[in-house]
Amino acid sequence: MTENNLCKLYGIKSKTILMLERAEALLLDKFSRIDETKEFNQLKIIKAMQASHLNYTHFYWNTGYGYNDPGREKVEEIYAKVFNTESALVRPNIVSGTHALYLTLSGITRHGDTIMSISGTPYDTLLTVIGVEGNSPNNLISHGIRYKEIDLIENERFDYDQIEKSLDASIKVIMIQRSTGYSSRKALTISKIRECVNRIKKINPDTIIMVDNCYGEFLETSEPSDYGADLVVGSLIKNPGGGIALTGGYICGKENLIDRIANRLTAPGIGKEVGLTFGQTRNILQGLYMAPSAVADSIKGALLFGAVYKELGYKIIPELEDERSDIIQSIVFGSKEKLIRFCQGIQKASPVDSMALPEPWAMPGYSNEVIMASGAFIQGSSIEISADAPIREPYAAFYQGGITYTQCKLAAAITLEEIM
Ligand SMILES: *Cc1c(COP(=O)(O)O)cnc(C)c1O
Repeated sequence: MTENNLCKLYGIKSKTILMLERAEALLLDKFSRIDETKEFNQLKIIKAMQASHLNYTHFYWNTGYGYNDPGREKVEEIYAKVFNTESALVRPNIVSGTHALYLTLSGITRHGDTIMSISGTPYDTLLTVIGVEGNSPNNLISHGIRYKEIDLIENERFDYDQIEKSLDASIKVIMIQRSTGYSSRKALTISKIRECVNRIKKINPDTIIMVDNCYGEFLETSEPSDYGADLVVGSLIKNPGGGIALTGGYICGKENLIDRIANRLTAPGIGKEVGLTFGQTRNILQGLYMAPSAVADSIKGALLFGAVYKELGYKIIPELEDERSDIIQSIVFGSKEKLIRFCQGIQKASPVDSMALPEPWAMPGYSNEVIMASGAFIQGSSIEISADAPIREPYAAFYQGGITYTQCKLAAAITLEEIM
């Protein structure tokens, strides 16, 4: 996009365009490294599809119980290959990332077991799932599951002293959240997760390590499951759905664990063998196929936002030089009004519902009011351009997605003009 295009079609001021161009010039090296990661992940996915002998009949679907649904089995085979695990559950009737995480945790724990988060307080909706907040029926604590939490040191390193002290036989599951979530820390990189998994497995190989992989898929050339995490869990309307999967969640991991979780998803004795795909297997696989480029363009967009808002003097997380392991760029506005205006700018730049004006709102599962800008083809999809924020100090926006870099650049231009 040249100066002309943004100006001609959107009347963006030359001052704003210059700022964007300066930022892009700074980011060229980073963009080429992102392209290398994209290439590897794209090839990995194509190879998994070929090795699974994916063919057109896998896009047909069944009715009723969905016995022998060829597409469902193929989707799960391909996901297991891509994430390098023994087995996978990938279903359109897993309604969200939170649902996938709840199924996982409730499927692998029993009364008296302890779940320990070692990356600090987990994502907001999980507090309700676990029962740390609220009193929702069937939360894990109400089923006799215990919960412990260890903070990261300086918001970025695992606290191995505390972890080693706490790691006794009562700890059934260790939970690691790869991405920032709504916190003010950086994503945990694969190399940090790898070291952590090794150390925990050395102390107690039976501890189940589950990684909340939401927003982290395809940021690097490996996934936590490549290095011994027992389970990785995420949402299909984030990275791995590539903006094309209509809905769904995935859980990839050890066969015996996936089997237990599948018996929780459907019913004991039934497990993975049933469940309609409602014609979604093509969308899910085409989305996976598109995911590495959707992710790459989204991170380029995140870097562009980071660069221009840093230049304006706002604190950004992660910093431009930080190694990235999720697609989120957080920008700390320190002001409720600016935060809201930023989110409204993102909405205005979106392809769908561009005329809507987002406002802070109470959302189920979240404890603060939340503002969400999402003018997406898939409702709530956050691999598409989106920004959201809980309305609380320090008034940070969490910007992510975009699918195409041009979309991100347009949104950066429009928000800059809203804020300046
Ligand atoms: C989005 C997200 C979730 C929850 O996913 P939903 O699909 O919104 O329910 C959980 N953990 C993290 C880190 C996330 O980013």
